Amino acid sequence: MPTAELIAIGTELLLGEIIDTNTKYLARQLRDYGVDLYRSTTVGDNLQRITLLIQEALSRADIVITTGGLGPTVDDPTRDAAAQACNTHNEFHPELWEQIRQRFLKRAMNISENNKKQAMIPAGAVVIANPVGTAPAFIMPINGKALVCLPGVPREMEYLMQTAILPWLKDHYSLSGMIKARVLHIGAVSESKIDEMVADLEKMTNPTVGLLAHPGIVDIRITAKADSEEDADEMINTLETIIRQRLGTDIYGVDNETLPQVIHKLAEKGSSAIKVILGGFAPDTFKDLAGNNLIVERVEPQSFPTLNKVNNILESPVFTCLYTPTPELSRIELNFSSPGHTESMTREYMGAPGLREEWAVNFCLSFIRHQLISKVYPEEKNDPS
Ligand code: ATP
Repeated sequence: MPTAELIAIGTELLLGEIIDTNTKYLARQLRDYGVDLYRSTTVGDNLQRITLLIQEALSRADIVITTGGLGPTVDDPTRDAAAQACNTHNEFHPELWEQIRQRFLKRAMNISENNKKQAMIPAGAVVIANPVGTAPAFIMPINGKALVCLPGVPREMEYLMQTAILPWLKDHYSLSGMIKARVLHIGAVSESKIDEMVADLEKMTNPTVGLLAHPGIVDIRITAKADSEEDADEMINTLETIIRQRLGTDIYGVDNETLPQVIHKLAEKGSSAIKVILGGFAPDTFKDLAGNNLIVERVEPQSFPTLNKVNNILESPVFTCLYTPTPELSRIELNFSSPGHTESMTREYMGAPGLREEWAVNFCLSFIRHQLISKVYPEEKNDPS
């Protein structure tokens, strides 16, 4: 498998003025095409530093991809740095200049002599015209390696990556392998407990299993490297089945699925409305929860209904969730009452103060989901679709 390095160019990235989304996008693309990404760096608009960084990256990796710094101004030094790093010079491409001119004309924009700089490409490079912007890109093959320079504007960069760069890399590095990942979400179970249950799987090398803890939620990421998407899916499916056998309905969702979405799906299947009474939470929490068959009511903590009171008025399932933060910890008191059944639980969390309410919300949602699948719609246990 070829190896790669990414270089994000732009002083505004270093100053924290913009977020580097290009690196995230490219890292995902390379992962999906089976290229091993070993390093990513950010550098300002400085000719010497970019040149040195490109040289270093080319000494380590097969593929080096830069984004940014291809504009027409003096602080757009990428093409000069690329030429210097590859011991070559920039050449003027009249056909590129014509394309750039036409693009400006069509948009009735003023073109300046500076823009000619964008038609300069290092000698020996493969020119990649940019139909969605003015900065052309290029691929410089060098000693069996490739330096790819892409514009910084994310929309242009992504377009050129999909239409020109990935097809070129596939051809030149016979990229057949690919890496796929799937994330399983688990609510209200501690990371250490899950770690115990999948410890043996975490030692595997392909597919790999990794845990990531958020307040009240733990993700299990399964990643497989294979020759085709089908093979990767099969490897992931096999491992997912093993994990599901161990964790059962503690797994509430996959990839982008969220707890409110899962609860909505469950609530929609019932005939009577489910009520959730909340106390002590900030007004914007649980904003995704109300919906079909789900009524969300906010009550001041001092007038929060007692368990008896809820039971007395009961006609359909009611959840009460009272959140009480103190300087030391946060406490959540949960109650579920439905005709013929009640369940209560109190939990405390002493994690970082900034994460306590997120923990309480996730714990509360997990409790609601768990009661719905075990007491209200138990048939869903076997059919979580
Ligand atoms: P152009 O000629 O269109 O200016 P360029 O290659 O010179 O292209 P830059 O000037 O470096 O690109 O960046 C243009 C804009 O693209 C930046 O102002 C920023 O909004 C965005 N951009 C650049 N790099 C990144 C990055 N790594 N992640 C997200 N956005 C970026």
